[in-house]
Amino acid sequence: MNAEIITIGEEIISGHTLDTNSAYIASKLSEIGIAVRYRVSVGDRVEDIEEAILAAWNRSAVTIATGGLGPTTDDITKKAICNAFDRKLVFHDDLLKLLENRFRNLNRKLPAMAQNQALQPQGAELLDNPIGSALGILFQEDERCFISLPGVPSEMEAIIDQSVLPLLLKREGRKHIEIRRIRTTGITESELAQAIADLEPIRENMWLAYLPGHQGTDLRVVCRSENEAEAKAEVDKLSEAIVGRVGEFIYTIGDQTISEVVGSLLKNGGKTIATAESCTGGLMAKYLTDVPGSSEYYRGSVVAYSNEIKQSVLKVPPEMLEQYGAVSAQVAEAMATGVRSLIGADFGLSSTGIAGPDGGTPEKPVGLVYIGCAQASGVVSKKVNLFGTRHRVRERSATMALDILRKIMIGR
Ligand code: AMP
Ligand code: MG
Repeated sequence: MNAEIITIGEEIISGHTLDTNSAYIASKLSEIGIAVRYRVSVGDRVEDIEEAILAAWNRSAVTIATGGLGPTTDDITKKAICNAFDRKLVFHDDLLKLLENRFRNLNRKLPAMAQNQALQPQGAELLDNPIGSALGILFQEDERCFISLPGVPSEMEAIIDQSVLPLLLKREGRKHIEIRRIRTTGITESELAQAIADLEPIRENMWLAYLPGHQGTDLRVVCRSENEAEAKAEVDKLSEAIVGRVGEFIYTIGDQTISEVVGSLLKNGGKTIATAESCTGGLMAKYLTDVPGSSEYYRGSVVAYSNEIKQSVLKVPPEMLEQYGAVSAQVAEAMATGVRSLIGADFGLSSTGIAGPDGGTPEKPVGLVYIGCAQASGVVSKKVNLFGTRHRVRERSATMALDILRKIMIGR
């Protein structure tokens, strides 16, 4: 089943309003295993909207349009729908009464202009709008359907969740959807795809999606079936196979962030942590304290950006800085040990690296980062080579640091 999304409005194509409706609809459809093949945006011109509707109707099994259903003169989607499907607008007395009632309950009188909300294309099914006055419009045939929704995101979302998704599931005759999120970090999307390429789907009504984000790539395994137990069993099977291949990069199966995963490990282990940050400049502290309740385990941070602070506050020996340079395994370890004893925590976690865009050399290129992790039993460090902009290098460094700590805590 292929889907197409049409967003309508001058504000959308001119860039004044960011088209968030498409993203919402596409992600909801993908969750129930419907692939979006086209996303089209058109302005407020009847002929353009009509043309977009007809093109979609001819090539897509499901078309969802948003925008232009309001009562004002720039809301012309209904006219375009009537042209495209060769229908007339018909007046619904019951709809008018419903609207008048709503306004009366608010102690207001229905404006004359709003009365045209009771005009609907002949033969259309109408989808209830629980929070607004513009109803959704639906045409369906055996093979395809067309849905038109109001542009206001909260109203569009309410109709999608309440009416559209159940309708599409019913049309497919498969009711149960099992969705599992497998979250990885430290492996690129293409490496991940390569590692599990031969597991790929798989069977009908089962999907594997790659969702790269700034802290790593998520995999989403989806199975749709008439039978709930079967859907779950299929998702279990594929998830286990994925864990078998790339388990070391998986920090959670579920929705937790890496900060939450690390936070839970610290909390459950009764451990505390302090951070010493050079190239990440406080980002590790930010990630750790993003989690509500992190004061239970997060003690504090030293942003030791200059060599002087590395020496005077973290007690990194000047000879070490001289001999190996600030970006080195030795200095990362000394920073971790230093902050651990300075602040008094079970773990000391450190970063030192070259975030770029300048400052790289052939021996120490941009993206070279050392992470140190100290605990009572000793200190270790890890060298990582990251790529991307300064911003990305810093984000990836801080994420890697959390992942290194995670692996140490689970004994990997
Ligand atoms: P309309 O139904 O076209 O009158 O749209 C009403 C309001 O919804 C607009 O002023 C926008 O702020 C918002 N809107 C319309 N289309 C979108 C869209 N594709 N994404 C996000 N917001 C939208
Ligand atoms: Mg509009």
